[in-house]
Amino acid sequence: MSYLIQGETGDWEVILGLEVHAQVVSNAKLFSGAPTTFGAEPNNNVSLVDSAMPGMLPVINEKCIEQAVRTGLGLKAKINLRSVFDRKNYFYADLPQGYQISQFKNPIVGEGAVILDLPDGSTRTVGIERLHLEQDAGKSIHDQDPKRSFIDLNRSGVALMEIVSMPDMRSPEDAGAYVRKLRSILRYLGTCDGNMEEGSMRADVNVSVRPVGETELRTRAEIKNVNSVRFVMQAIEYEARRQVEVYESGGEVVQETRLFDSVKGETRSMRSKEFAHDYRYFPDPDLLPIEFSQEYVDQIKETLPELPDDKKERFMSDFALSAYDAGVLVAEKETADYFEAVAQGRDAKTAANWVITNLFAVLNAKGVGIAESPVSSDSLGQLLDLMADNTISGRIAKDVFEIMVESGDDPGKIVKDKGLEQITDTGEIEGVIDQIIADNPKQVEQFKGGNEKIAGWFVGQAMKATGGKANPQAVNEILKKKLSS
Ligand code: MN
Repeated sequence: MSYLIQGETGDWEVILGLEVHAQVVSNAKLFSGAPTTFGAEPNNNVSLVDSAMPGMLPVINEKCIEQAVRTGLGLKAKINLRSVFDRKNYFYADLPQGYQISQFKNPIVGEGAVILDLPDGSTRTVGIERLHLEQDAGKSIHDQDPKRSFIDLNRSGVALMEIVSMPDMRSPEDAGAYVRKLRSILRYLGTCDGNMEEGSMRADVNVSVRPVGETELRTRAEIKNVNSVRFVMQAIEYEARRQVEVYESGGEVVQETRLFDSVKGETRSMRSKEFAHDYRYFPDPDLLPIEFSQEYVDQIKETLPELPDDKKERFMSDFALSAYDAGVLVAEKETADYFEAVAQGRDAKTAANWVITNLFAVLNAKGVGIAESPVSSDSLGQLLDLMADNTISGRIAKDVFEIMVESGDDPGKIVKDKGLEQITDTGEIEGVIDQIIADNPKQVEQFKGGNEKIAGWFVGQAMKATGGKANPQAVNEILKKKLSS
């Protein structure tokens, strides 16, 4: 599945690397005790450290270190037992310190990998270059007053993990799958809530293009702070095409930072890209290097949950699910748990189909997650049992499911109240079929004349006459017998 851009001079390949900023799940900020709650009144979650009052000193929050190590382990990455905090110097109104405390040469986490689950069921591995801890900045607010800007420092000093991928992605789909998979892993780990709409996960997307066959990387542009999977994909699509056009019209792509305008669906230049030396990085003299033992890492490793890749493999081997179905079911831990509850002691393939097709359709239509599902895993399981023991047919099950969604009632109760039990009494079905045959001599003639397709019409009539409750297998058998006699 290769994604190429057809230019006037030939086909172009797209090279993508992502830097994801993920907010660490922690009650307090990286270097202060101020809270991190989302949606607080402006400037309420701010300590003297976060507002950079003179003489204030940062104190590392151990919980954030633990979360970074945990994330590194989840990304199968090298954990560095010694890492260093550096000052990244730049001026911005919402950065009162005049520098961001980050990690430059010695990050806490080194190389790892993320496995993408692609729509065709195949996988692709994207290398992780590093993960480092750093502070978030505050927020400048320009739309409250025509003449003044405001600063909200609530986010100032909140712990972020910057997760940098290798330039291993080749299409908007790859990048979308990467962000989704990374978010899934972080949520399983409980190290980032992954709520992109609240800004707790943002992606900087590095895009470059080159003619197919070329091996050197060309100059890249970086699209900053893209805050949804869809926008990441749209931004790449636009930016890659723009770069191809620049090259084909004889120009050069410049290294720069660009913004994605989601309304216009285009990227535009924000500023020419700074280089690392512009920031005058140096080790923060207020903070000692972070050092911990392998034992500390091993202890954290003990507490890791089963992660999506392992769960997917287990679903494929234990439940004989396809790679695609298993991948869809494990993407969210709540969905995986729900499915397992339904599948336990039942036909897993049927359970997977019902969750992926019928339940997901309802959740999508209602715009809710599985935690707010109107049908519990218990109820769905009961519905499957009613089908398995032939109390209802698969067709009636769909009707029952709809009623379950609206009423919240148990399937057993609905079937009983509405008299939806399947008719398996062959005498009753025979009676119905005899009547249909007697009423439709013309169709019987057609069948006897060799028109086998008409058999389907008879099945339809029988189902209609029984309100869809006749056992389809019995109908088929009896019809075959009667029509060919
Ligand atoms: Mn950063």
